[in-house]
Amino acid sequence: MNDKNKLCATTPLEDEKIRITAPKQTAAGPIAVLSSIKHVYKELSLKNCSKTLFSVNQMTGFDCPGCAWPDPDDHRSAMGEFCENGVKAIAEEATEKRVGPGFFAKHSVVELSHWSDFKLGKSGRLTHPMILYPGKSNYEEISWEEAFQKISTQLNKLSSPDEAIFYTSGRTSNEAAFLYQLFVRQYGTNNLPDCSNMCHESSGVALSETLGIGKGSVKLEDFYITDLIIVVGQNPGTNHPRMLTALQKAKQNNAQIITINPLPEAGLLNFKNPQNLGGWLGSGTNLTDLFLQVKVGADVPLFKAILCLLLEEEEAQPGSVFDRDFIEKHTHGYQELIESLRTQNAEELAKQSGVDFSLIKQATHKIKQAKRMIICWAMGLTQHKNAVQNIQELVNLLLLKGCMGKPGSGTCPVRGHSNVQGDRTMGIWEKPKDAFLNQLKENFDFEPPRTHGYDTVNAIKAMAEGKAKVFFAMGGNFLSATPDTNYTARALQNCELTVQVSTKLNRSHLITGKTAIILPCLGRTEIDLQNGKAQFVSVENSMGIVHASRGQLKPASEHLKSEPAIVSELAEATLKDSKVKWTWLTEDYDRIRDIIEQTIPGFGNYNQRVRNDGGFYLPNGAREGNFHTNTGKANFTINPIPEIDVKEDEFIMMTIRSHDQFNTTIYGLDDRYRGIFNARRIVLMHKNDIQKINCQAGDEVDIIGHYEGEERIAPRFKIVAYPIPEQCIATYFPETNVLVPINSYADRSYTPTSKNVVVKLKASS
Ligand code: SF4
Repeated sequence: MNDKNKLCATTPLEDEKIRITAPKQTAAGPIAVLSSIKHVYKELSLKNCSKTLFSVNQMTGFDCPGCAWPDPDDHRSAMGEFCENGVKAIAEEATEKRVGPGFFAKHSVVELSHWSDFKLGKSGRLTHPMILYPGKSNYEEISWEEAFQKISTQLNKLSSPDEAIFYTSGRTSNEAAFLYQLFVRQYGTNNLPDCSNMCHESSGVALSETLGIGKGSVKLEDFYITDLIIVVGQNPGTNHPRMLTALQKAKQNNAQIITINPLPEAGLLNFKNPQNLGGWLGSGTNLTDLFLQVKVGADVPLFKAILCLLLEEEEAQPGSVFDRDFIEKHTHGYQELIESLRTQNAEELAKQSGVDFSLIKQATHKIKQAKRMIICWAMGLTQHKNAVQNIQELVNLLLLKGCMGKPGSGTCPVRGHSNVQGDRTMGIWEKPKDAFLNQLKENFDFEPPRTHGYDTVNAIKAMAEGKAKVFFAMGGNFLSATPDTNYTARALQNCELTVQVSTKLNRSHLITGKTAIILPCLGRTEIDLQNGKAQFVSVENSMGIVHASRGQLKPASEHLKSEPAIVSELAEATLKDSKVKWTWLTEDYDRIRDIIEQTIPGFGNYNQRVRNDGGFYLPNGAREGNFHTNTGKANFTINPIPEIDVKEDEFIMMTIRSHDQFNTTIYGLDDRYRGIFNARRIVLMHKNDIQKINCQAGDEVDIIGHYEGEERIAPRFKIVAYPIPEQCIATYFPETNVLVPINSYADRSYTPTSKNVVVKLKASS
């Protein structure tokens, strides 16, 4: 009997034998190579190890299933075009361990839910379609045909297609994503939330309004010719490690780097590139020239202080700081911005930001000197209530300097998942544009739904309120990736059916609807045979390059199906009068790319150009200085100073990743760069704050959040003294996602405020 009350929605408490050392001052180097070898050695055979590592990110190889940092357009390193965390991602997917019917017969869902996320993930690759019947304790094997039949019956039983939710994780290829959205829209709903809702949705909203495109504008080569790179709210050493190579090259070309972050991250201090001798024997390359340690959530005051100081200099000597010609020709709203800045006091703003005023002056000086400037960011800006304003304030800075639409300059929101940008380009969005729907109507002869669907936050609420009864996930680990874990768990358990298309076991397979189905799919590293012919898929990276990915390994099981095949067979089973030839399309993926070319602008000659070495760039107006906004120009914006209401006994908590983690996948229990080993239930605190709560480093505290009258508790976190601003703390997700309230999200983008949760700490009893 499957007793729901015995299930564990969050990783269970374990006695962690924590070990703490001083945080590292350098990233990568020989240790990263040793760590990579350790990970592949544990998971892969030698044969598969060389097969994968010497084909990942190569022109004819497969795309790394990790982040979305681009590969060089030209030369790819023969020593290997990957980083330590890319190797960990590959080792996870290409592991030789297997999770099949025998495994599930042995381990009940309740038992598995009491395993840590780390242990679940290390169980191995899923090999067979499995079903968990209502009230049963263990998953049982089911045939693909029966699985599709059950899902389609349930879908067609719903009183409205809007009672079903179709989630997408950012690893899904362009071909699978396009077919998926076409199936879901032919089924009759726009309920297409995706992981982008939780990460760069705020960037999409901010950039679309100001620059006319929701994507970054720079290319990799811009890093090599720029004068100044500002890295804000991002930790590339762990989350986009090959970015360090681009920063090193920029430094070698005399660029300056300013880092803005509440935490001094090793990856932005010094980089030992293992691709050259200096990275083994030398002292590495110092990256950051100026570190501004901003308080959590105080980015707008900091950026505005810089804008005010730049304005002072500009007004003292007109034309010496601002690019008047660019402003004149290409922007809208300049005067309003200037008038609003004149009402501000830079020194007061500096105080609010927590950054020393003299350092802000130094940053202003570097920005003034720069003719070309790139600003990079990630979750540190996008997961706040005022996230959209955070990003728009940065755009103001670029526009005043005329650093848009020219080489060496522009915006660089770095995507954390290999094809999250591609999925959105393919139409995975709950708010589709009419032009896209009209094209679908014309090309596939059906009337697409026009009502916007649920994003991730509203999808969870719909399930909790019983408005949605079926949840289908294309990849990912929805339960652990989303906010308010216990609320989300109840929402999923409220469904009649939950379906997960997955490669590996995770907690979302254990906290399920009344009936749960697992559909095991091919991984990015695996050969995808359709009609006896090896197919390739395509993805889009952070710079808007669409390129091919060709699996190299024999699939982990003969029972796996590719994502496109799963979608087309489900569509055949579910849609009664679709005119789309689903099976024919998946017999040769060139056919899918042909219909993408006919539907989405910028994909002309798709099949020919995707076969070019390195693929092709999608059009990008902001890169070319064409701003397709409501004014036809780049828009300045006026962004209010956020109210930071934190009482004396409260802290602002931000959730972060450890170095042994990729999103919710836990590769290991160490966070080497921060000097934390064999532990995940930790809280980084300033030594003065530890004293303030009468505790010591190593003591355990409960973290308690009160929001809209509700209390949320995350128990037993070990205190780690860390150089973080006072009244700011940091913890790992998914362990503290339980504290992120479902109703706490960014204005206009609905991105959960995982970087800004007000909490209290109490010594654990
Ligand atoms: S930087 Fe990102 S895409 Fe590149 S190898 Fe590392 S994880 Fe993979």
